[in-house]
Amino acid sequence: MTTQVRLLANRLIKYNYMQDPDDPVINAEIDYLSNFNNGRLLVVNDDLMVIKDTYGKSLGKTIVSEETITCLKEGTKGTYAYFDKQNGLIELVVPVVEDKQSEGSDVVDTDKIEVVRGAVMLSISMDPIHRSLIKLSRQIAVYEGLIIITILIIALMLAHKLMKPFDKITADINEVKAGYTEDSIEIPKLTEARHIAIAFNSLLRRMKVLDDSRQEFVSNVSHELRTPITSMKVLADSLLSMGEEAPVEIYRDFMEDIGKEVDRENKIIGDLLTLVKLDKKNPELEVKSVDIEALIEGVLKRIKPIAMQRDIELIFESKRSVTAEIDEVKISQVMTNLVENAVKYNKDGGSVKVVLDADHQNFTVKVMDTGVGIPEDALEHVFERFYRVDKSRSREIGGTGLGLAIARSAVLMHRGTIDVDSKLGVGTTFTVKIPLILAAEK
Ligand code: ADP
Repeated sequence: MTTQVRLLANRLIKYNYMQDPDDPVINAEIDYLSNFNNGRLLVVNDDLMVIKDTYGKSLGKTIVSEETITCLKEGTKGTYAYFDKQNGLIELVVPVVEDKQSEGSDVVDTDKIEVVRGAVMLSISMDPIHRSLIKLSRQIAVYEGLIIITILIIALMLAHKLMKPFDKITADINEVKAGYTEDSIEIPKLTEARHIAIAFNSLLRRMKVLDDSRQEFVSNVSHELRTPITSMKVLADSLLSMGEEAPVEIYRDFMEDIGKEVDRENKIIGDLLTLVKLDKKNPELEVKSVDIEALIEGVLKRIKPIAMQRDIELIFESKRSVTAEIDEVKISQVMTNLVENAVKYNKDGGSVKVVLDADHQNFTVKVMDTGVGIPEDALEHVFERFYRVDKSRSREIGGTGLGLAIARSAVLMHRGTIDVDSKLGVGTTFTVKIPLILAAEK
């Protein structure tokens, strides 16, 4: 604006306006400048008299304002520009300077001698700009509001669309939870929901497997527990039906049989309890340093009388003395079960050989017998609960079908392995491998 007014001031000199304020060309320029800026333009001569006022109000009057006087006194340096915040006005005072040496030039040259002929004053109201600003900010606020509402609507619609598959999964899961169905839930298209549904279905399958095996276990247990009771009932009924004339020997015989069945029942319950304890989520191991040689010798000593009855030889071969950190009771049970089986399923006059060996990480115990052997297709099942190759034979010799399952659980608790190798009619070898130091659980 200052530049525009300065240019006008130069033209005032050029067209001699200060002497002839009626020049129509300059008057038109002045009017245009004031209209364009929406302001009021005054031209005062060097006597401070108004020779042009675009509002026409002060024409011919004298203006005695500090800025105008300074401007006339200082010449080019007296240019005054000020924003009157209170009234919302831009005030501009520019001197009309005549350059004596270069008359008619458009350029104001400060090095030349200047004669101040008057001043141009322009005051522009900021109100229209203010009003436009307010209008504009209102419009912006409206647009902002509209944009926010649109975004919210789109977000809600998207959220609804995204939540739909999850709602469906939740409903399906609730159906399963309520027990209405056990079927796999439908896999949705949305990737994240797909992952959840797939994970849930595999969990469902795992639960079904667990449930099936639990049901099988319960029915096996019931069956196993019922068998001795049925036998006792039959024995007791037969005794009763014989009446009082039955000879005492028969009574004694039957009572002995009933006693045996009670022992069997007791053994099954005992084994079941042992198994349940081992199956617990966090079974406790009472780990301490144990001399394995001594442990095996102890086991063999206990079983020797039974082996001797059938003329079975028990041989122990220790390749090195071993001390390991184990739960003595549990590993002792493992060894007892293996050696007992080796005797139970042996031929009269056969032999059982136990070999102990170790490397720097594990110790290995092999229990080899010269017994009946296990058919190949049964090998993978012998560690299952209640599995018996020959049910009646096992029962005859007091087996519960739980011995190897117990042994396996106890070995796994020690982070060891148990394997079986057998040849039908020749013999069986069970190999147990257990770390010398129990690794801490992760
Ligand atoms: P059980 O109480 O019947 O002996 P186990 O779990 O100890 O139950 O063994 C499961 C089955 O594995 C036995 O019934 C038997 O058929 C077979 N078995 C185990 N050990 C031997 C072995 N040393 N020789 C032959 N068969 C064996």
